[in-house]
Amino acid sequence: MLATILDGRKIRDKAVTELRQAFATISAVPVLAIVQVGDREDTNAYVKAKRNFAEKIGVNTMHTKLPFDISQSSLIEEVKKLKNDQMVKGIIVQLPLPEGINRNAVIDTILPSKDVDAITPPNVKRWADGIQDALLPATAQGVKTLLKEYDIDLQGKKVAVIGRSTLVGKPIASMCLSQNATVTICHSKTVDLKEVTLNSDIIIVAVGKINLITRDHVRAGQVVIDVGINTYEGKKLDDEIVEKKIVGDVDFLEVSKIVGAITPVPGGVGPLTVLSVFQNLLALCNG
Ligand code: NAD
Repeated sequence: MLATILDGRKIRDKAVTELRQAFATISAVPVLAIVQVGDREDTNAYVKAKRNFAEKIGVNTMHTKLPFDISQSSLIEEVKKLKNDQMVKGIIVQLPLPEGINRNAVIDTILPSKDVDAITPPNVKRWADGIQDALLPATAQGVKTLLKEYDIDLQGKKVAVIGRSTLVGKPIASMCLSQNATVTICHSKTVDLKEVTLNSDIIIVAVGKINLITRDHVRAGQVVIDVGINTYEGKKLDDEIVEKKIVGDVDFLEVSKIVGAITPVPGGVGPLTVLSVFQNLLALCNG
């Protein structure tokens, strides 16, 4: 039997009207400031998705695209300017930043009350402490929304979170823990990934490696949430690229024949990450 497809786009689209109405009640149209350094293809796509969604729900965006070789101090100056701009209610600094820029020094410049991604130290402490109304980084919030919408209760469940980054893996693990799941966090040095995944009820994978999770890692009845975003390039024999597409970390075709429910990539967690950015912005505006 084929797995239930957990459709993030459907949930996102359902939320548009409600969000548009909620933002319309705010006296001045809020601005989400997005700071991007360089011209990475994936970052361009993320920024575009946020700006398109903002337009749909009546939020203004201010996109500052800075050169790849900008100095750390100039970048910090740019972020500082946004701190004092009354119209700017939320700030996102697109990660990753180029090597040589101390990411924490830049993040520390974001005012916690404008920190849409919940990555400044005071906001990280709140979600890491499991405070129920803490703002979560958008991807973790997106996974939470997805599970809630499909009535997948985390309480008492064994959850494998694969990936331990500050922006993605750790907040997802924290979110699951605060919902009373028993969480195992796996990473690049985990010795027997298969043993952990087979022993879990829910597998959440956020690594960035095509086909990390195959049919051998899963069993019937499990829920698989694929957070990974990778560009797959099919090649001809002469190495000419014939096909370019976005895929996750899971071998979707094979795994979806075995498990109970699965997110597609694209169309699973991605749209909900975008939605969560604006839910977080609304919370900051009302905050
Ligand atoms: P990252 O590179 O910061 O972290 C990757 C993590 O994977 C690390 O913790 C590492 O230990 C772990 N890892 C690496 N190889 C592994 C292996 N063989 N087995 C187990 N764990 C391994 O990346 P990130 O920023 O956390 O993003 C992870 C993925 O999620 C990427 O594909 C990224 O594009 C995607 N992403 C998706 C969304 C979304 O909305 N769907 C949002 C943000 C990031």
